[in-house]
Amino acid sequence: MERLMDAIVKPTAGPGLELRRVPVPVPGPGEVLIKIHKTAICGTDVHIYNWDPWARIHITHPPMTIGHEYVGEIAQLGEGVTGLTVGQRVSGEGHITCHRCRNCHTGNIQWCKNTTSVGVDRDGAFAEYLCIPQTNVIPIDESLDEDVVAFFDAFGNATHTALMWDLVGEDVLITGAGPIGIIAAGICKYDGARRVIITDLNDYRLGLARKMGVDAAVNTGREDLLQVMKEQGLKEGFDVGLEMSGNGAAFRQMCSVMRNGGRISLLGLGNKPIEVDMNDIICKGLCLQGIYGRKMDNWHKMSYMVQGGLDLTPVITHRFHYTEFEKGFAAMNSGESGKVVLDWTK
Ligand SMILES: [Zn+2]
Repeated sequence: MERLMDAIVKPTAGPGLELRRVPVPVPGPGEVLIKIHKTAICGTDVHIYNWDPWARIHITHPPMTIGHEYVGEIAQLGEGVTGLTVGQRVSGEGHITCHRCRNCHTGNIQWCKNTTSVGVDRDGAFAEYLCIPQTNVIPIDESLDEDVVAFFDAFGNATHTALMWDLVGEDVLITGAGPIGIIAAGICKYDGARRVIITDLNDYRLGLARKMGVDAAVNTGREDLLQVMKEQGLKEGFDVGLEMSGNGAAFRQMCSVMRNGGRISLLGLGNKPIEVDMNDIICKGLCLQGIYGRKMDNWHKMSYMVQGGLDLTPVITHRFHYTEFEKGFAAMNSGESGKVVLDWTK
C-alpha cells in the first residue's frame, strides 16, 4: 500500500499554499530519502506563496510540494548508494545539476546550464520526507544546531556572495538587510573585515543586522550614508560591495560610494531591469560578479564557520510547527522577520 505524508503544497496556479496528504517518495537508483526535521522559509517560497510574476513564470506544474531549506536524517538509500548511512544527519544542495556540461565538468556546478531546483522545478522539502540524488546529499555534523542548519541553503548564498572577495581588513557595504544580507554581515565580520555597513529602509531588519554585529546599520530613507562613512573612518570609499536588495537606487548608491578598483558581488534579483550609470563603473574600474546558488565547497566552510564561532541564531525570529505554516508566511510577508523555522519532528 502506498504510504502517505504531510506536505505543504502549491495546489493550483494562484495565491496560497495547502497542507495535504501526498505519497511518500520512493528513492530510485542513486537517490536518497530524507526524513525532514526542520525547514526554513526562503524569500523564494514567499514569492511562490504570493503567486507574484516570478512564481507565475517558474512554478509551471502545480500541484507540487515547495521548500528547499532543510535539515533531516537519511531514512532510506536507493539502489547503488554508497558512503551514506540510514539515520545520518544531512542537508542537501538544492540545485540538481547535470554532471555533463562544461561548468559541471570543471567543478563550477553553480553555473550548470541544465540546473533544476528542489522546491521550484521538482517536489521540495516542506514535507515529512524528501527524495534527492545522492550527489546532492550533504552530511551535517551532530554538533550543529538544527535550527541553524535548517537555513544553510540561504547561508550558502551569503557565503558565496561574501567570500567572492578578500575581506580581511576591508570595508564592506551590504545593500539590503534581508536574512541573507544579515547573514553575510556576520560572515564578513567573522572573516576579518574592518567595517561592515548595511543599508535598508526597514528598521526592524536593520535592528537584526545590529544584533549580528554590523558596525553601522543605515536607514537610507532618512540617514546620510556619506556621513556614516565619515564617522566610521572610511576615507576612499568601500573596498567590497555585496548587493542583496535587487533595488536600482541601492545599487546606484553602492556604485557611487565604492573606492576606485572596488569589487561588487550581486545576489539580489530585481523584479524589473535597473538603470545604472556605466561611466561610474568604468571610470572607477569596478569589478562586478553575479552570484547564483553556492559552490559545493561553501557547504564545508559553512559548517566550519559555525563550529569556529560564527553565531547565526540572531537571524532566527520565528519558530512554528509545520501545521502553523500560515503564521510563518504571514511573518515573512509582514517584513518584520528574519528566518522563520518550521519544525517537522513532532
Ligand atoms: Zn551541468
